[in-house]
Amino acid sequence: MAPTQVRSDAAVALPRDAFASGAPRRAKVLPEHARAHNRTLVLQTLLDEGPSSRADLARATSLTRVTVSDLVAELVAEGLLAELGTREDPRPGKPATLVDLARDAFLIVGLDLSDAAAFRGALLAIDGTVLDRAEVPTHAATGEEALALAIDLARTLRDRAATPVLGVGVGTPGVVDVDGVVLQAPNLDWHDLPLRDRLVDALGVPVHVANDANAALLAERGRSNADVLVVRIGLGVGAGLAVGGVPVRGTRSAAGEIGHVTIGTDGGPRCACGRDGCLEAWLAEPRLRHALAVADASDHDRILDEAGHRLGIALAPIVGVLDLPRVVVSGPADLLDGTLARAAERTLRERTLDDGQEVVVAMTKHGDDVVVRGAAMLVRSGELGVA
Ligand SMILES: [Zn+2]
Repeated sequence: MAPTQVRSDAAVALPRDAFASGAPRRAKVLPEHARAHNRTLVLQTLLDEGPSSRADLARATSLTRVTVSDLVAELVAEGLLAELGTREDPRPGKPATLVDLARDAFLIVGLDLSDAAAFRGALLAIDGTVLDRAEVPTHAATGEEALALAIDLARTLRDRAATPVLGVGVGTPGVVDVDGVVLQAPNLDWHDLPLRDRLVDALGVPVHVANDANAALLAERGRSNADVLVVRIGLGVGAGLAVGGVPVRGTRSAAGEIGHVTIGTDGGPRCACGRDGCLEAWLAEPRLRHALAVADASDHDRILDEAGHRLGIALAPIVGVLDLPRVVVSGPADLLDGTLARAAERTLRERTLDDGQEVVVAMTKHGDDVVVRGAAMLVRSGELGVA
């Protein structure tokens, strides 16, 4: 399928998402940046409000009718907006013509490479609706073999799309820099892997890559500015963090990498990194499943309680320092939802300031789709500038 012709400069003048990769933000505000900003206002308004007349758009964006009409004409010509015909209107005068995002004209491919057993992918509409899914078992593949599986999965989904693909978004384990290079993902044996560029070369569409927990954070927050910590548990353990309304990337792109923080001073299971008692050694999905498999059923609750308790110990200083109201947990619900999450919440409350507004630990509302949804949002913000 031919790559989409959508202009990708729409986001240039906007406060780019902290995890967006692609063109660097230019500091100087030029007229074309104002235009890009206005385009984004129109697209965002339609995404939020649905079908609108040009007059509706002018009111909602505070742009002039002339500016709105120009932008709508441009966006219709690019295939991003569709004219929907006239609105039933009891008022006298010429009935208003409605326009909307061409919601069926472009699709997004989202990939989640963080699951312990399989790479998962989805085909999503521009408004984030999941339309189709695919997954490929990884059989513990690493290196180039794992990369080939990810490329195949993206290609499969792209080829299923009946309309052009706006881009591919990827949530991957590991530390990811602003250029979509996976600096290190030990569980996949990826080191300085230019994942974005390799996918662009293979697929010929724009690609945006972020750490899986950071992708989950985007989906979890949506358009809210609330502070939140999202803990992602799969092949490893990571976190995504938003403070002061802004996702935190970190000096070395590694904010939220809590998997190898040692929990307690009492040893603990040996970690893949060679140390004892890392959070991942207590909590990564393969570790937990193994611990449960070799234990008596009567011990299962104790094992899950211990893992949740260790998670609470790891998070308490972060929650306390940053005054976070809420921790969201994402990963296999059969392991996390219940004893483990309650133990984490109990420990967090025991170990942080009790001011009557106790911290809440909740499962993500997006279930298993949280990373692919966040990955799709990377594409949406990177290519269209909309949140
Ligand atoms: Zn470790």
